[in-house]
Order: sequence, then structure tokens, then C-alpha cells
Amino acid sequence: MNDFDIIVIGGGPAGSYAALAAAKSGCSVALFEEHRAIGWPRHDPGWLMNSEFSDSLIGAIGKAVFSTSVRDFRVCDAESGELIETSAMGGYLVRRDLLEKEITALAIQAGANVYLKTKVVKLVRKEGKVIAVETSSSIIPKAECKVLICADGIRSSSIGFAASEGLCEPGELRPGISHILANADVTEGVIEHFLSSDPLLNYKCFWTNRKDWCYFSLPVSTPLHEFQGRQDNVVSRKIQKAYPLEISGHTRASSGKYGEYFNNMVKENVMFIGDASGGAGNIHGMIQGQFAGKVGASAVKENDISNERLTEYQELVLQTLCKAPFFYFTAREDFGSFNNWFHEFKIATEGIRTAELDGL
Ligand SMILES: Cc1cc2nc3c(=O)[nH]c(=O)nc-3n(C[C@H](O)[C@H](O)[C@H](O)COP(=O)(O)OP(=O)(O)OC[C@H]3O[C@@H](n4cnc5c(N)ncnc54)[C@H](O)[C@@H]3O)c2cc1C
Repeated sequence: MNDFDIIVIGGGPAGSYAALAAAKSGCSVALFEEHRAIGWPRHDPGWLMNSEFSDSLIGAIGKAVFSTSVRDFRVCDAESGELIETSAMGGYLVRRDLLEKEITALAIQAGANVYLKTKVVKLVRKEGKVIAVETSSSIIPKAECKVLICADGIRSSSIGFAASEGLCEPGELRPGISHILANADVTEGVIEHFLSSDPLLNYKCFWTNRKDWCYFSLPVSTPLHEFQGRQDNVVSRKIQKAYPLEISGHTRASSGKYGEYFNNMVKENVMFIGDASGGAGNIHGMIQGQFAGKVGASAVKENDISNERLTEYQELVLQTLCKAPFFYFTAREDFGSFNNWFHEFKIATEGIRTAELDGL
């Protein structure tokens, strides 16, 4: 009864898009999300890098996810405020929690089955292939599949399936607290990025999709009020009078080179996508979801779920996203100039659109 062509673990942008692409291709699909809601806790500020995929995504669902075009992406010195680099190639800011809710709703319309509060706890193998998953839910404790798409996010490399499947070296994670702040000195559609030799000020960022309102993150060890109280830098001064409207935790990889195991994304009949594949970024994850959903669906239809067949997914990623990977950078040297990176990403993803959303 609980027998599906494709099972997707995780309802983030990567997993929800994979479920949509697979369901649109005519497969029976189950998506398992451990939390009580898709999109919660909010994973990030919802910046979508500039690309054809982002444009077509916003064209189709921009109203539903409250999008703002990014007018300016500024990189500044955190102490002096001096401008280091500016770019207009900033893409969009969306309500990230609504993004995956909307994509998941469309996946359901296309026929996908979505199970909330359902954590996948074990992959069941037979003759080297995953044939089922076991979950924490009494409603659906076990479900069978032909192909598994694993989108369990950044924790995959430490306590998730990328680690337990031996796909990567165990990763280290850095916990942080993300705030939505009101009453901050920020401008709608302007992303401000601050760099400093002081680690606490380095890579501080205001993501602003409403006037005076921004998304801002700190390490768990730094209380917001202490950071606001500092007088020695522009970042603290800009949020001195701000109030948090929402607080949620997040983790990110501690190494800027996290993306290096991008070369190994398929194991037997399992495709790893999004952060679980060693990549990062919302658009990267959704494009991987599109590739994996489509390749998985055609493999099921052709009754060939061999490693060779599914490796087509990995080839697509290597030919496109891997040319401009978004990884958890910790130093500017990791990728050089933001402008170059945006440009490379746009070129690397040329021609990839949200075909699944056409006609909405
Ligand atoms: C502070 C911060 C800011 C960022 N800013 C941006 C940004 O502005 N733009 C951008 O593009 N990227 C940004 N990123 C990166 C971005 O958040 C990730 O790349 C993106 O969330 C990856 O999507 P995903 O679907 O792969 O994983 P996730 O969004 O992490 O989703 C994984 C899902 O799987 C679920 N899950 C995990 N294990 C299981 C299980 N066993 N069973 C069932 N469900 C499970 C989780 O609950 C989660 O919902 C940021 C990251 C951080 C930490």
C-alpha cells in the first residue's frame, strides 16, 4: 500500500522541487518532512541568485512568496562602512518559508503525497539497493520506493544520510541564531554584506525585503543585545534600535570547502540533492531537485534504476551548477569577487527554467 515510485526525504527547496518535478513527470511520489510545517523553522533569508531559473520561478509564484527584486548588493568594510564592491546582479528576496510551502502545494496538486512530522530514520536495503524507508510516524512507519531522493539538508554530512551512507567525510557544523528585525536602518531591496578581520563582524549581512525590516544572523554565543550595544562598527549601529520579530536557529558548515564532494551525488538508487549533496543555495537546490526528479522519473518509466542511469543527474549538475558552486564560504578568498561569482552562476545556469510551473 505504501509503495511509491519515488520517495523524497526533506521538504526544503531541494526536496519540495524534486517532489514537484517527479510528480509532474507522472510518478507516484511521497515527500517526508520531519517538522510540523513545510518551511519551518525558517532556514534562511530567501535570497534567490540571479538566473533564468529564478526569473521564471518569480514570474510564476512571485506574488505567493512576497518577492522583492534586489536593487543593490553592497559589500562594505564593517568598521568604517566604506564600500568595497557593489552589484545589481542580486536576484530576488522572498519569504523563504513561503517558497517551499508554495512549491510543496504545487507538488501536491501534481499528485505527490506529503507527510509532515515524519522523520525518516532508516534506509532499508536489499541487494545493494534502497527498497524502503522506515519513519518515526505511526501513520506511515514504512514506505517502499524504486528511487530515493535524499534532501535532508546541511545536517546530512554530520548526523544525516550523507554521513551514514559514507558519502562524505563527517562534516562539522556551526550553529547560529537568525533574527527578523524591525526598526533597523536598512533599505528595501538592498543586501548589505560586511567584511572585517574581527571574526564576529566578518560576513555579517542585512537581507532586506521590506523597509526597516531585515534578516540578520549571529553565532549562538553572541546575544543580540550585546552585539547591538557595540559602538565600534557600522553593523551594530544600523540595528541599535531594532527589535526581533522572529528568532530561529540554523546550522551551517564550518568549512568553506564543504562543496568539494559534489563529485559524488549518486549511490545505487539514491540521489543526493541540495545541501545533502555538499552544495548549498536555494536555487542550486531547486535546480538539483528538478534534475533529480526528472532523471528519477524517466529511470522508473524505463525500468532501469541502475547507478549508470541515475548518474545522468550527477552529470547535469557537473555541467551546470558545479561551474559556479554556492558553498559555505568563510573567507572572501573562497570565491573572489561577488560580481564574478554572480556572473558565472548566471552563465552556468543559462537555459534552465522552471518548466514545471509553466501555465500557472
Ligand atoms: C544563515 C544562512 C543564510 C543563508 N542564506 C541563503 C540565501 O540567502 N540564499 C540562498 O540561496 N541560500 C542561503 N543559505 C543556504 C540555504 O539555506 C541552503 O542551501 C538551503 O536551505 C538548502 O536547501 P535544502 O532543501 O537542500 O535543505 P534544507 O532547506 O535544510 O531542507 C532540508 C529539510 O529536510 C528535513 N529533514 C532533515 N532530515 C530529515 C529526515 N531524516 N526526515 C525527514 N525530514 C528531514 C529538514 O527538516 C528540512 O526541512 C543560507 C544558509 C544559512 C545557514
